[in-house]
Amino acid sequence: MNKQLQRMQELVDLLNKYGYEYYTLDKPSVTDQEYDRLMQELLNLEALYPNNILPDSPSQRVGGKVNEVFLKIKHKIPLLSLANVFTESDIIAFDNKIRSEEIKNPEYVCELKIDGLAVSLKYEKGLLKYAATRGDGIIGEDITDNVKTIKSIPLKLKKEIDIEVRGEIYVSKENFRKINEERIEKGLELFKNARNLASGTIRQLDTSVVAKRNLDAFIYHLPNPLDYGIKTHYEALEFMKQLGFVTNLNNKLVNGIDGILNYISEKTKERKDLPYDIDGVVIKLNNISDQMKLGSTVKYPKWATAYKFPPEEVITKLKDIIFTVGRTGQITPNAILEPVNVMGSTISKTTLHNEDYCREKDIRKGDYVTIIKAGDVIPRVESVKFERRTGLEEPFKMIEKCPICQAKLVKKDSNYYCTNPLCDRRHIEELIHFASRGAMDITGMGDRIIEDMYNLGFVKTIIDFYHLEKYKNDLMLLEGYGEKSVQNLLEEIEESKKKSLEKLLFALGIRHVGLKTATILSRKFINMDNLINATYNDLKDIPDIGEEISKSVIEYFKNYENLKLIEDLKKLGINMNYLGKVVDNQKIKNKSFVITGILNIKRDELKDLIITNGGKVIDSVSKKTDYLILGANPGSKYDKAIKLNITILNEEEILKMLKV
Ligand code: NAD
Repeated sequence: MNKQLQRMQELVDLLNKYGYEYYTLDKPSVTDQEYDRLMQELLNLEALYPNNILPDSPSQRVGGKVNEVFLKIKHKIPLLSLANVFTESDIIAFDNKIRSEEIKNPEYVCELKIDGLAVSLKYEKGLLKYAATRGDGIIGEDITDNVKTIKSIPLKLKKEIDIEVRGEIYVSKENFRKINEERIEKGLELFKNARNLASGTIRQLDTSVVAKRNLDAFIYHLPNPLDYGIKTHYEALEFMKQLGFVTNLNNKLVNGIDGILNYISEKTKERKDLPYDIDGVVIKLNNISDQMKLGSTVKYPKWATAYKFPPEEVITKLKDIIFTVGRTGQITPNAILEPVNVMGSTISKTTLHNEDYCREKDIRKGDYVTIIKAGDVIPRVESVKFERRTGLEEPFKMIEKCPICQAKLVKKDSNYYCTNPLCDRRHIEELIHFASRGAMDITGMGDRIIEDMYNLGFVKTIIDFYHLEKYKNDLMLLEGYGEKSVQNLLEEIEESKKKSLEKLLFALGIRHVGLKTATILSRKFINMDNLINATYNDLKDIPDIGEEISKSVIEYFKNYENLKLIEDLKKLGINMNYLGKVVDNQKIKNKSFVITGILNIKRDELKDLIITNGGKVIDSVSKKTDYLILGANPGSKYDKAIKLNITILNEEEILKMLKV
């Protein structure tokens, strides 16, 4: 059998096993992210081999098997699952697909994706008649008696009508914690997460146990809106609320892709403060006749999708610990990992910082470790899965010599350094940093080519980059390089001479001077000579600079070799001036701004304008905020600003202050 078809079979078997553990036993043995990753692999293969899709593939079915212990209820309209998206470009593709069906300017309702289990509720003459789980999407389990214990689900509606509504049953974070605490005391097995607890509870045979667990529910779907003269999903939510159902306060009508992305970024931040777990955001097309035009697959509606939050935590094996040398000579232990996907990128190596970090966490070669990546921070080894140790793991051992030049190491604070100023690796790292993005940004000058050029003797110092022309013919002989690419590279090097001062300052690799600090210094001193002549006091008093950076800058410019390097760069025609805008705008200077809602001007553009005018843009509203800039469809920041009496500006007003 073709290897890929064999893999399809393997994946189907594995996913069905995990599905059984999750849906039927409420005891998953892998994380949802791992399940989603394998499912994505299967979907990719099925797209390649559509004729070989296996009949028992989980891509062809909704949910799990119906438990025979319960009476069965047939769903008149199938209760489907939702397609998943994971990235911004997936969301854009979803929106494009909808627009391609001639649905112009689609309006969406964004909702929180509550991490519980779906329920269908049927009312006759306003009285609760049946409650059913999703089951396999067609047949659900009768859970009416258990659902009657949920206080937020009305037994009687405010109108005597026949209706079916759907929603999510969940357990609050607080209840989940309490129930597990009680189980610890009783020595019982703990529930893995609130979703499994809700799902396990609702399928309990003893209703008194269900009543004690305080389940809760949000209602989010009306399967037959047209029967009630309802034309949009948002109206349906309002209608259900008026009947007495609890709908979620975060449901929001948004316009186009910007509205969706703003909602996601807001909810990503607010997620941890919510009293219940959510695992994403659901995006639904608002107009019902547009929904009907799009229809459904066997598994999910085409007019809605679920954006799943990126995994914040994954587990993988730490295969090895290797040591690298940085441009300051600092030795860093690094974890070599079994490749794993964290927030959309595959990680196979990550820093372990220093000896103390490894010892405190007792990180050993061969361990299973948890990797986290919060926000856009570099992924880090968070903890060791001690329960998975076999005894064969090797305890951490710090090296005594530089792994490159074998020189002795010295310890300063928590770090070890190579003592050899001529250590090759230090020089290579300096060169890599100089050419990197954010620094001189020399496109085509990547780590590998720099290493090759260093080893061949073409580039030993920063200055040598600007004399590379003489090695033009030799460069063309390097693997992967031809006349055109060498010419491009030389042009890029020439182009780098025009970069603004902050880029050069950052590229020089002055201790504690990152791009942000380099920009602050460049704006203040305008050119290199002013900065070289600045005193410690001149520097220290600049906001956001402080003592440590000031000392480091003074130290750098005291060194003769560094001054000589700057003189040589000047002679080569490298720009030494700040080229950004400097605007003295007293209305904006030192003021803090928060932006909410959709604006005509691009957010990044507005942020840049505020910063170049001397203001600050922050993410959340607090007492210290000076202004809230208000766009259409604002989020919760608006409510908070009103409460705190913050001055509100509309787009026109802020642009006027910025003199745009
Ligand atoms: P899903 O959880 O990806 O999304 C669909 C469900 O979202 C709906 O059925 C509904 O119950 C729920 N939902 C919550 N808020 C909603 C809202 N506002 N509007 C509409 N629906 C809302 O799909 P699924 O079919 O329930 O489960 C599949 C997922 O379950 C997988 O993607 C995986 O993450 C997880 N799973 C994990 C394992 C495991 O072993 N860890 C096994 C099977 C499935």
